[in-house]
Amino acid sequence: MASIALQGVGKTYPGKEAHYILRDVGFTIGDGEFVVLVGPSGCGKSTLLRMIAGLEEISAGEISIAGQCVNQTPPARRGLAMVFQSYALYAHMTVFDNIAFGLKLARVPKAEIKASVQAVAKMLQMEHLLERRPPQLSGGQRQRVAIGRAIVRKPRAFLFDEPLSNLDAALRADMRVEIARLHRQLGATMVYVTHDQVEAMTLADRIVVLGPAGVQQIGAPMHLYDRPANVFVAGFIGSPKMNLAPGTLDPAGRLWLGNAALAWQAPAGAPAQLTIGIRPEHLQPDPDGVIDGQVLLVERLGAESYVHLAVAGLDKPLMVVVQDLPPAAGARWRVSPVIGRLHVFDQDGRRIEAGAPATNAAADAAGLPEVA
Ligand code: ADP
Ligand code: MG
Repeated sequence: MASIALQGVGKTYPGKEAHYILRDVGFTIGDGEFVVLVGPSGCGKSTLLRMIAGLEEISAGEISIAGQCVNQTPPARRGLAMVFQSYALYAHMTVFDNIAFGLKLARVPKAEIKASVQAVAKMLQMEHLLERRPPQLSGGQRQRVAIGRAIVRKPRAFLFDEPLSNLDAALRADMRVEIARLHRQLGATMVYVTHDQVEAMTLADRIVVLGPAGVQQIGAPMHLYDRPANVFVAGFIGSPKMNLAPGTLDPAGRLWLGNAALAWQAPAGAPAQLTIGIRPEHLQPDPDGVIDGQVLLVERLGAESYVHLAVAGLDKPLMVVVQDLPPAAGARWRVSPVIGRLHVFDQDGRRIEAGAPATNAAADAAGLPEVA
């Protein structure tokens, strides 16, 4: 296994000189690390993965694998295995031959090929499928074959490009667990592209969020969830999406969302015009809640419900997740944000950290827990 390092990597397409698809992308994927690249469609996730694989030229910067620059190294000599969304299997070959294909090309002895394919088939629980051909397999089984074909070559790292997006939801959940298990079992370096943020949150050691301006934030999944660096990441990570609404800071340092004053300790120098973010799961029903609204719509999902709450002074309804019995549509309803769970951003979308309360009295005024 090997680490992968990107330094100042950029991509433009011919005729698009002025327009970088990716600009100044730099991060390192540690040996054995599982890094997930997420971002909206078209932001350059596949392009970045293909550049690491060597299938796409880079326009700027340097990519190295295990400390060696591979800018000039052809794909076959990078020692990486790529798994595509489309599976890319040979329909006329058996599963065994599909998995064995790369080893045959590399002239590995027959007995050794057989042993390797069987070991991989066992690992992926598809020993009984080895004589079938891809058209006789389900989508999940085909993806398993594609993964098996990657594993059998003992690559230095695995590159996955949305490998589960052609599967239905139940299968996707199964395969997700399978891939997590494989990562543990193989201790492999994995770079995994997805637009599914449940996959990103559950699989990643670290997530790289890509946006229109390249890398938006890099960090452990829960770090991105707890402290998104900007509005883009705040809106992208988390499901259902974070509520984002304009807020104002008055001269007394109180933060207003519509006509609700929220508990937040403004740091010195905070601007007056802000964007406030509150996750739907961090709004709680509260008879004395500071946010007062009218229930527009309730979506009952079984374990929980999504309540859409219209609040005076806000353009968009707030989304609230409740585990208990939800209120009825049309009802007046009050909620409060969970203390310490507000996200605040400046006009440029950058996160503003809350300041430390100067005194316990100030903490009390801001509704924060007292400092010991
Ligand atoms: P993602 O995988 O994140 O959905 P891609 O990496 O496929 O995005 O594409 C990133 C951007 O690069 C898109 O805007 C796409 O239109 C553009 N692009 C991809 N391939 C080419 C190409 N061969 N020529 C010009 N533009 C391209
Ligand atoms: Mg893509």
